[in-house]
Amino acid sequence: MSEKVKSIRGMQALLPEILEKWQAIEQIVKGVFNAYAFKEIRTPVVERSELFQRTIGENTDVVSKEMYSFKDRKDQSLSLRPEATAGIIRAGIEHSLFYNQTQKLWSMGPMYRYERPQKGRYRQFHQINMEAFGFSGPEIDAEIILMTARIWKLLKVDNLQLEINSLGTPVSRNKYRAELQHYFLEHRAILDEDSLVRLEKNPMRILDSKNPDLQSIIETAPKMLDFLDAESSEHFEKLKETLTSNGIQFVLNDKLVRGLDYYTKTVFEWTTDQLGSQATVCGGGRYDGLVKELGGQDIPAIGCAIGVERLTELVAVSDENPQNKQPKIYIVAVGKDAENRALILSEKIRDLGHGISVAMNMDGGSFKQQFKRADKSGSDLALIIGEEEIESGTVSIKSMKSDAEQKSVDEAKVLEEIKQYL
Ligand code: ATP
Ligand code: MG
Repeated sequence: MSEKVKSIRGMQALLPEILEKWQAIEQIVKGVFNAYAFKEIRTPVVERSELFQRTIGENTDVVSKEMYSFKDRKDQSLSLRPEATAGIIRAGIEHSLFYNQTQKLWSMGPMYRYERPQKGRYRQFHQINMEAFGFSGPEIDAEIILMTARIWKLLKVDNLQLEINSLGTPVSRNKYRAELQHYFLEHRAILDEDSLVRLEKNPMRILDSKNPDLQSIIETAPKMLDFLDAESSEHFEKLKETLTSNGIQFVLNDKLVRGLDYYTKTVFEWTTDQLGSQATVCGGGRYDGLVKELGGQDIPAIGCAIGVERLTELVAVSDENPQNKQPKIYIVAVGKDAENRALILSEKIRDLGHGISVAMNMDGGSFKQQFKRADKSGSDLALIIGEEEIESGTVSIKSMKSDAEQKSVDEAKVLEEIKQYL
């Protein structure tokens, strides 16, 4: 036997069994996007490395440690996308999507980060993204949060908590950053290696540290909310009001800084206590300067990403999955003539539409073997064609889900009859 080729660590195939749930989730999510007038966009999985360095930030974990970067045959540095926003902006600028118009866009697909694989953390994982361009007021911030809340509700996920914070404008944020740097410098002796690097380059990221030894100095660190400029403060107040008046509960988390550098004003995360330390199911925020930074118009923007693998962990398998409701038929056919007729019949049933799934028995077998296969396939109905049926011009119909008697039907009427069973 030849040697097997192994998969790549942290990258897994999604098998048919689990994909039923994924498809149900995707269907619900697409319905919600439609309800909020968001349109789909799909961008390449590979981009120039420069795109992510300029957007996410050189000093973030994602860019400095987690990117899959490689040279192509022209010696150009490319990267597998670690997130979706940068590529969407790049494509939007290239195709003038932001010129004199607003955009509400969603996307779904695989992302790549070289992280230590564990439950809820993979090297290939999937995100559902939503981004809105050209809206400056807090209404869109609220709408995106309401939209995610609606997704949780429709998926019957009720254990998520919303955390929000404001990072201010670049000006107030820089003031805060300087203050924070000063504060952590005074506590330099306690800082770990990671935080010492962050201290130089991006002290706000220390607030994000999960090291338990640092929690007490993080707790007493200066708070961004005390440094907010008037504009950001008003924006944040209005958002909180809107959320409250729409019945959305939230907690203020002044240590919420997010892992990417580009955020301004509103940031938020939906977290759960049901997934261990991989607690964030959805995260996002405003990135008002980013489109301009990448050579586009000076327009405000906001977006967020749902981690699909983590979300699926929280969604119970449900009979309401529309795919599970679709009727399944298996055609049992014994003998060459029967097989020919079965093929014609299966195409006719598919012509009916109705979402009926038809599997025709392949590669022969006895009645007994074929019924076993019909059973295993989870069919609702078996249509049987044997020598007897060929002679009498009939098809036998047997329910696989009830004890109802097998029934013989004239071939011309079989389609009518099937409809009654479904
Ligand atoms: P974490 O703090 O868990 O590393 P993050 O802040 O790096 O998350 P984001 O960049 O905000 O994550 O991505 C949005 C969402 O994508 C996360 O909330 C999470 O649900 C999911 N996600 C991020 N990284 C991974 C991964 N390696 N494997 C699975 N899902 C992930
Ligand atoms: Mg991360």
